[in-house]
Amino acid sequence: MCKPVPISEVFNQPDTDRDVCIRGWVYRTRSSGSIVFSIIRDASGIIQVTVKKGLLPEADFDAAVTASIESSVMVVGKIAEDKRAPGGFEIRASKFKLIGPADPFPITEYQSEELLLDKRHLWIRSREQNAIMKIKATALEGAREWLKENDFVEVTPPIFTTNACEGGVTLFKLDYFGREAYLSQSAQMYLEALIFSLERVWSLTPSFRAEKSRTPRHLTEYWHLELEEAWVENDENMRIQEDLVTAMVEKVLRKRRAELELLKRDIEPLKAVSPPFKRMKYSEVISLLRSKGFDIAYGCDLGAPEERAVTANEYVPIFITNYPKECKAFYMKEDPEDPKTYKCADLLAPEGYGEIIGGSERETDINKLIERLDALSIPRENYEWYLDLRRFGSVPHSGFGLGVERVVRWICGVEHIREVTPFPRTVARIYP
Ligand code: ATP
Ligand code: MG
Repeated sequence: MCKPVPISEVFNQPDTDRDVCIRGWVYRTRSSGSIVFSIIRDASGIIQVTVKKGLLPEADFDAAVTASIESSVMVVGKIAEDKRAPGGFEIRASKFKLIGPADPFPITEYQSEELLLDKRHLWIRSREQNAIMKIKATALEGAREWLKENDFVEVTPPIFTTNACEGGVTLFKLDYFGREAYLSQSAQMYLEALIFSLERVWSLTPSFRAEKSRTPRHLTEYWHLELEEAWVENDENMRIQEDLVTAMVEKVLRKRRAELELLKRDIEPLKAVSPPFKRMKYSEVISLLRSKGFDIAYGCDLGAPEERAVTANEYVPIFITNYPKECKAFYMKEDPEDPKTYKCADLLAPEGYGEIIGGSERETDINKLIERLDALSIPRENYEWYLDLRRFGSVPHSGFGLGVERVVRWICGVEHIREVTPFPRTVARIYP
């Protein structure tokens, strides 16, 4: 057998004189008497293989007949143009080996969402899932490149923790050798500690939120890309966010056109993404929402319907700044120009997708932090280490957390967040 090549390479160099070898899985197959048409897929794409009795050993022809959907196979043959084949080329087989036969595949066309989730370990082979996973990897690659160019150091914060940075309601509690601990909701506080050594840091970790409501944008376990920056105030923090998000979108546009097309994603809105992003104050958003007929009180956090209304007709993400203190976490910095609010910003993805980043400048005044912990009846002992960061050479600093699946959901233009993670974890799902 010759050296196997990725299927995409066959299309890139359709040299019709040479034998090529591919290996992969049967995506579709039909046979009639002395001919088998088998569409083979590998990680890179699909191609039609035509197998004609008499043009290859009898055993190979029989293998092609028996190779049912999702059987793994190896094929050698010549490339030939064929207008009817997907992509305009096919392979005319001179060898066809069955590597791993497949039982009848449980996923056929038009399956229920439930079945696709039960069979997720098999459904991730689908072309849509393949495209989404590639786009996710490329978006992260874009982020990593940007972070490297901008002198951020990658760090590795813990997942077991005793902090409840984002509030007690969504904590996953666990028994840590007899002590109560939690799965991390955010690496933020550890990143804050690390900036006193490294100044500009980032981490990519799973975050855990016991989200009991079923929404198309909440997972119980998601990938969280977090940055923390010494000597940075909230304005610059927002500039960092718009540059980072733009770098992620641009990388996908440059490298993943075919995948976006497969997902039928209209790329015009994505092409419009470039800094500066629009900025609106929370109070302006409330007025805007009221003018659109929302019955919303000042002081409420924005939910999905409100965020959808604000972003539905936009192509570029929007920052919402200056949330009132009562709807955000205690560690944010009070805005001296508007002390009822924090120097914070949520970044909302356009086209109705809503929040993808939560960020803020951090409070440096230790007395304010202590007051807020007391007001929330949070035992100060748990946060002594965090308060120490204000006792030893505190500096202005800011940071943010980006939900990787939220960003990928928007870039891919898919409705439900579970579609952008291979093994989604939700209230109802922990298997497979
Ligand atoms: P939301 O209001 O949408 O629940 P949040 O205010 O709880 O979000 P943050 O605590 O600011 O979110 O977390 C930072 C980022 O992490 C969010 O902007 C979002 O992109 C992402 N994120 C938060 N919760 C989830 C979740 N349950 N599933 C997926 N991503 C999430
Ligand atoms: Mg939340």
